[in-house]
Amino acid sequence: MRLNRGFAAVALAAVGVLGLSACAGGATEPAEPVAEAPEFEAGSTMAALAEAGTITIGTKFDQPLFGLQGLDGEPVGFDVEIGKIIASELGISADNIEWVETVSANREPFIENGTVDIVVATYTINDTRKEVISFAGPYYLAGQDILVLEGNPEGITGPDDLAGKNVCSVAGSTSEKNIAEYGVNLITTDTYSNCLEPLRNGAVVAVTTDNVILAGLADQNPGEFEVVNNPFTSEPYGIGLGRDDDAFRSFINDVLEAAYEDGRWADAWNATAGTVLDLPEPPAVDRY
Ligand code: GLU
Repeated sequence: MRLNRGFAAVALAAVGVLGLSACAGGATEPAEPVAEAPEFEAGSTMAALAEAGTITIGTKFDQPLFGLQGLDGEPVGFDVEIGKIIASELGISADNIEWVETVSANREPFIENGTVDIVVATYTINDTRKEVISFAGPYYLAGQDILVLEGNPEGITGPDDLAGKNVCSVAGSTSEKNIAEYGVNLITTDTYSNCLEPLRNGAVVAVTTDNVILAGLADQNPGEFEVVNNPFTSEPYGIGLGRDDDAFRSFINDVLEAAYEDGRWADAWNATAGTVLDLPEPPAVDRY
């Protein structure tokens, strides 16, 4: 989709505003400049959301750095900031976003049944999921890795070392499917944070999912865990939306590219995941 003139003008204005807020904002999350009365094609999802003045976004609530519920009940993290950037281009301020917790297994159903408008939740783009939903992005490239106890008492260096061992992951994730190929004794639960106690008490020797999720959990629990740091899959993170809503998908892809260009993507990273992880290059969006 080409940017319409209103959108482009707002995007340009947004760059100017962002410069100010970034200086004043310090290490806190960047306040997204909100597009004023953006215009969208009648009947589009963008028009409906802009008209409603609110958007419902599914994200994780227990994953430090990407989506973690704060004391005020609102989630914080890189996924949350990506959601705010998308909302801002619809003329919706952060205050008017409704956040819904999604776990790995309910992301497609929540999109399909309309519980959420979009999902931004460490959500790998893949063909199986594309059978029921669509993806904008990717906006980040992760890789599956392994979390072990600090000091790595079992000497685990990669997934081959996990054969025959008890390993925890999450139902409905790509992590669960990928690790199943290595002959592990897989124990699944609904969230990665629920895998930590079994790792502490020895019920499992490892937790496996995306490196950045594991890095966040290790950072949240200093001295307890370490990431093996040998990623063995490619996990491009996308924004899940209704299947075949091509105009909405193109719109979100345009927003991502604009945010790459004008620094909002990097600001979002630096204020969240960037407190622990290096700033990556933004990945090219895939307009499949
Ligand atoms: N990115 C993987 C997935 O989408 C694993 C992380 C997660 O479960 O959120 O399944």
